[in-house]
Amino acid sequence: MFNILVVDDSETMRAAIRKVVGMSGVPVGEFLEAGNGMEALAVLEDAWVDVILTDINMPEMNGIEFLKRVKAEEVYRNIPVIIITTEASQARMDEAEGLGASGYVKKPFLPETIKMILTDVLEKAYAQRMKEIPAEAAVESDEEMDF
Ligand SMILES: [Mg+2]
Repeated sequence: MFNILVVDDSETMRAAIRKVVGMSGVPVGEFLEAGNGMEALAVLEDAWVDVILTDINMPEMNGIEFLKRVKAEEVYRNIPVIIITTEASQARMDEAEGLGASGYVKKPFLPETIKMILTDVLEKAYAQRMKEIPAEAAVESDEEMDF
């Protein structure tokens, strides 16, 4: 089971990501949510998190600043961080990668894209635990989720 933290200032987007993750076949333990980087850091203090999916544009603390904070903390730095954002410039992607992001998804996204990147990242980070997951968990919708 994997505890998943989704960080996005849009509640609708968090719900959409939650739905996609639910359909992905990844066994979810706890599904945790935060509306910005500050809230996400508070969640990390209280709960064990296996993977983080974060937006970039958010009030209080944006996703880039949050990513920096995660990677600067000994106890958090091994948690894979996947960026899900409308900011699709190559410079932004390079910056995120340079800061240690494990993946980058552009909004609007296809459910299949999230599934692929999430399972890929989890496989790399937690090879042993991923072996127990059935290989072919179908994601039904191939429509873009655009909010
Ligand atoms: Mg946002």
